[in-house]
Amino acid sequence: MKNDIKQILLTKEVIEKRVQEIGQEIDQYYQNREIIIITLLDGAIVFTADLIRNLAIPLRLDCLRVSSYGNSTDPETAPRILSSLKSDVRDKHVLLVDDILDTGNTLQSVFNEVTSKQPASVRSCVFLDKPERRQNGFKADWSGFSIPDEFVVGYGLDYAGRYRQLPYVGTLKPSVYS
Ligand code: 5GP
Ligand code: MG
Repeated sequence: MKNDIKQILLTKEVIEKRVQEIGQEIDQYYQNREIIIITLLDGAIVFTADLIRNLAIPLRLDCLRVSSYGNSTDPETAPRILSSLKSDVRDKHVLLVDDILDTGNTLQSVFNEVTSKQPASVRSCVFLDKPERRQNGFKADWSGFSIPDEFVVGYGLDYAGRYRQLPYVGTLKPSVYS
C-alpha cells in the first residue's frame, strides 16, 4: 500500500491541525445553534469523523450515498444521489460535508436537493478543493486545503475502493493505474 504512493501532499500532522481550525471556525459561525451534518459517503467518512470531534455545537449526523468514480479517475458529469435522508431538514441548519470539491457537480446537485426541502440554511465544508477543475460556480463555505489538479488518495479518498485508510493525502505511482 505505502509502496504505491508517489508523493505525500498533506501529512497527518498538517491535516490534524487544519481540521481543528475548521472546527473552531464552524463553532464560531453557528454560535451554539444546532446543525444537521449531511456527510457524503463514502469519501467524507474519515474527514467527518475527525471534524465532528472538533465541534462543540450541538449536531446530528445524516449520510447520503452519492455515485462515485467507480474504478476510473474521471468524475461522472451527472452525479447520482443513491440514498435518501433520514432527517427532516425543514427549518434546520444544514452543513454538507464532502471529501473533495472537484468539478462541483456533486455538491451542487446535493445542495439543490437539500435546498428544495426548505432548511433554515445550507452551508458546505470540504476537506479538499481543486479550484482549477470547477465546472460551475460552486464555492464551499469552509475548505481544508486547495490542491492542484492531481488525483489524490488517503484520508477517506480512494482509488478503486482502496487507500481510504491512509492517514495522509498523496498521489499514486503511475504503475498503480496500469
Ligand atoms: P465533483 O462532483 O466535485 O467533480 O467530484 C466530487 C467527488 O469526486 C468527490 O467527492 C470524490 O469522491 C471524487 N474525487 C474528485 N477528485 C478526486 C481525487 O483526486 N481523488 C479521489 N479519490 N476522488 C476524487
Ligand atoms: Mg465523494
